[in-house]
This record gives sequence, structure tokens and C-alpha cells, in this order.
Amino acid sequence: MPGNAGTERINKCERIKIDINNKNELIEKLTFLKINLVVIGPEIPLANGLADFLRKKEFKVFGPGKDGAKLEYSKSWAKAFMQNANIPTANFWRVNSLEEAKQIIHSSSIPLVVKADGLASGKGVFIPDTKNECLKAAESIFNGKFGKSGNVIVLEEKIQGPEVSVFALCDGKKYILLPTAQDHKRLNEKDKGPNTGGMGAYSPAPILKEESLDRVIKEIIEPTINELNKKNIDYKGVIYFGLMITESGPKVIEYNCRFGDPECQTIMPLMDQNFVLLLEKCSMGTLTGDEKIDPSDKVSGCVIATSKGYPQEYETGFPIKIGNIKQKNCQIFDSGTSLSNNGELLTDGGRVLSIVCQDKDFDIVFEKAYENLKEIHFDGIYFRNDIGHQVRKRFSKEN
Ligand code: AMP
Repeated sequence: MPGNAGTERINKCERIKIDINNKNELIEKLTFLKINLVVIGPEIPLANGLADFLRKKEFKVFGPGKDGAKLEYSKSWAKAFMQNANIPTANFWRVNSLEEAKQIIHSSSIPLVVKADGLASGKGVFIPDTKNECLKAAESIFNGKFGKSGNVIVLEEKIQGPEVSVFALCDGKKYILLPTAQDHKRLNEKDKGPNTGGMGAYSPAPILKEESLDRVIKEIIEPTINELNKKNIDYKGVIYFGLMITESGPKVIEYNCRFGDPECQTIMPLMDQNFVLLLEKCSMGTLTGDEKIDPSDKVSGCVIATSKGYPQEYETGFPIKIGNIKQKNCQIFDSGTSLSNNGELLTDGGRVLSIVCQDKDFDIVFEKAYENLKEIHFDGIYFRNDIGHQVRKRFSKEN
């Protein structure tokens, strides 16, 4: 619900175009279909308490209630949460007015990052190079760029290091980790240009070797789950940990209360059919914590094809032609697409398609993905050719 042009192409997949805010219609449909497990994907319905509502109606739900979703929908709350639990994160100030922001920015001797407190579709973070840019960012947020989401801002110490994503499936008490992932946020090759929602990803992320993952578990994941428990938050869903590996160790950049994109489409094909049983166990609070989560010995990589102009202005409505795709262990996921009245696939967003492949090493994975991209055509298609450069041995030698 509501599905997209991609789910419409899947056999046996019914696309249910109802408004999930219409509670009566939603319950009627779920009951009629005898739905056994509801997985709530995006952050807005989670922040609006959809999981709480459905649980009250006795549905099994994978996704946190409103209290747990606050880890994502209020950055200042999440920062205070981390501070209380001694979870390593960048130093910060919660700021209520532009005046206050000006004082902090002027007197600060360290570079600062500016964040809108609330949900902003991944666009609420500014990484200024100068104090002037920093002030402008704060001003634009307080002037209503993100509506109510910008009533409060967070000013944060700018920290440095490679980023990595870790996902924990939680049942309220116990948790299991999914394979790690790394995404490329910048628009252009060599990780330059503006930030985007993600231009590609790969999984697992070799940067988190066993030893550093142990440290992440001890210093970040377990304290997060313990703090949730202390606050009586019964978190049944996935916690996404966006981490930066700094010189002084791993630090939390942000929490999400859902699977991230493009990491989700990169990781999911590594899962086997037991995955859905794990989601169900989380929804029921019956994880043992010893479940095997990663049966695949393959690695996975994803390249995003975008519309020309993204992440700024772009045109949509161009026909998409998909030629002969290598089917084995390759998938195409739709994001910004739609179907015309006569069933033609059209571009309908900035990030249009994800091309995902799995194989025994990252060189083969990305060779396959880029071969497949030769078969995908639409006006203004843009993608980076260097996704996964850190883990492609042949790519590093050639460049
Ligand atoms: P977020 O939406 O909080 O994940 O932020 C988006 C991106 O901004 C992150 O993936 C980082 O690349 C960057 N970022 C966020 N916070 C900081 C920070 N304190 N220092 C440096 N970069 C940051």
C-alpha cells in the first residue's frame, strides 16, 4: 500500500491504492485480506502512531510505535537520548530561536552542522563551509523551509570519517543484526557534489570488521536497546544506525526507525525466505537473539539511475525502456516511476530505478549492474560509474 509501478509488475502482488490515513478503510482491507503481519515502511506513518493504532486493533505489526519513532522524528530528542545513555555522538546544542543560533555560531571555534529537528525527507541537514553559510542555513530553517519540522534546530559539531549503516531488528528486548552496508550520498563521482538520498550502496561493508563491529555493539547498539527499555519503549521494528567511524571511534550520526534507501534494496536480496518469519517474531516479541540472519555468502551492490538535474529541479514523464536484463541474482527496484494510462513505464521522480546485483565479489557485482544499466534507457538518465569504488579491486587498479 500504495505500491508503485514496480510492485504492479510482480505476479501475485496486489497493489492496494487506499489512503492509509483513512483508518476505517485500512482496517476493513486488512481484515478482508486476513493480513497476518503488517510491515510499516516509511517514517511518516510510524511518527503518526500507525503501529500503535494497528496493535490496539490486534494486528501483528513490524514497526515501532510513536514513542520509538521519535528516535527519527526528533533529532534533538535522539541527541538527548544518546547523551543520557553515554552513546558516542557529535557534541550538540538544541536551539529554539535564530538569536540563540547566532550566538552559538559566532562564538563557536569548531565547524558546525545545522539540522532541522523534525522530519524533512532527508533534506534537513546542512553542512556549511563557513560561519556565514551556517547562519544562512539556520535562518532558512527558522524561516519555515521545513514548516513545523524546523521550529527547533540542532547545531552539531562537524565530525569526520567514513560512514556505515548498521540495522538491528528488535522485538522490544532482543535484537539481531542485518548485514552492514555503505551508501554513496554525493551526486558525483569521487564522492563529490551535493548530498542526495543516495546514489548507490553495497553490502556488507568491509570497513566494519569483526573487531570494530564488536565495539559498535558494545558502545552503541546495546546501550540504545537498554535505554529504550529504561524509557519503557517497546520497540518492535528495525533501528537504523547511521554511523561515522571517526579517529576516536564510531559515533552515531543519526537513527532511523525504518530500513534506509538504498541500503534496503541492497541488503534484502541477501536474505532468504526466513526473513519474514524474523519480522513476525519481532512483532510478537519472541526473538531468541540467536537466529541466523545472513545465509547468503554473496555480496550485493546497487546503482541508482536518476533524472537529469536531481537533486535540484528535474523533468519527469519520460518513457523508460528496459532491455535484456541478466535475470540471475539481479533485480530492478522502482522508486520514481509511474505507469501511463496505456501501461507505459514513465519516469516520475528524481531517483528513478535501483539496479541491484549479487555475486561472490564486488567486482562481479558491479560489472553485472553496469552491464544491466546499458539496457536501461530514458531521456536524461544519470548514474555514477564508481559506486563501490572502495571495494572493487579491479576498479581501484584501473583508476
Ligand atoms: P543525516 O540526515 O543526519 O544522516 O545527515 C545526512 C548526512 O550529513 C550524513 O550522512 C553525513 O554525511 C552528514 N552529517 C550529518 N551530521 C554530521 C556531523 N555531525 N558531522 C559531519 N557530517 C554530518
